[in-house]
Amino acid sequence: MNNVDIPWRRAVVSVDQFSRSDIDEIFALAARLSVGRTMPLTGKSIVNLFYEPSTRTSSSFYAAMTKLGGSVIPINEVNYSSVTKGESLEDTIRTLECYADALVLRHYDEDATERAVSVASVPIINAGNGAGEHPTQALLDLYTISKERGHIDGLTVTLMGDLKHGRTVHSLVKLLRMYDVKVQFVSPPELSLPRPYLVKEDTEYTDLEAVIDDTDILYVTRVQKERLSDSVAIDFSYAVTQSDMDRAKDEMVLMHPLPRVGEIPSELDSDPRAAYFRQMKYGLHVRMALLVSMIGRD
Ligand code: ASP
Repeated sequence: MNNVDIPWRRAVVSVDQFSRSDIDEIFALAARLSVGRTMPLTGKSIVNLFYEPSTRTSSSFYAAMTKLGGSVIPINEVNYSSVTKGESLEDTIRTLECYADALVLRHYDEDATERAVSVASVPIINAGNGAGEHPTQALLDLYTISKERGHIDGLTVTLMGDLKHGRTVHSLVKLLRMYDVKVQFVSPPELSLPRPYLVKEDTEYTDLEAVIDDTDILYVTRVQKERLSDSVAIDFSYAVTQSDMDRAKDEMVLMHPLPRVGEIPSELDSDPRAAYFRQMKYGLHVRMALLVSMIGRD
């Protein structure tokens, strides 16, 4: 079965599963839940199953679930689980689904979510599959754009960093294609966006200076060191500077999925255009909306 054919309420594998009206519905629910005090997930539970490190994704799913009245079995360190004894992903999924209404899975293999979906009878949420996708992050990134700017159509979005391995970028680019948005990319050639994600209107640069002036949204990512083989030395250090911000539009929105490791110096944090901390809060609301949509109905 192709990912696109899987209803997203059954499993979130890729952003390809969402239509614009699905996204509108999720965003409207996220906005309602952000101010509501209801507990629609009382009695429900999820497992956070993380084979790779996570701070924001795992804790925001945890917070989302508990704010909605539900509970979480956190397996953030699979090394202390039977995975160390050699248990397969499939058997781990079959085990954990006995105890929960949905599984949030982060795994280093790009086919892990699909493998999990093929054996699971409860909803699976892809919380990052290697260098593949990170659909819930991209939804919260898009939500951040719509909240910060009030609209998505008509904007110029610049994505800068490790576009080759950045799974948040891969998902976000696909979502942006659904809108009337100009997308431009800044990276060293070795870390450029994989060709299948590019369309002919896209423009690619190696320097932010060339595009900062007309950028409405600047989305910065770190080099995904863990995905580079030791033999590849990337000579690419970059940071958004105060002089970039001076040249940027007054209403530009500066985003980062975090963690940052030098790409945005902390001196820029007090600039009202720096949205990366607000972005995390928006993420909580989007994840609440996804959970309610996926497991809130019997
Ligand atoms: N936290 C994001 C991810 O898991 C971004 C990153 O790690 O650079 O993909």
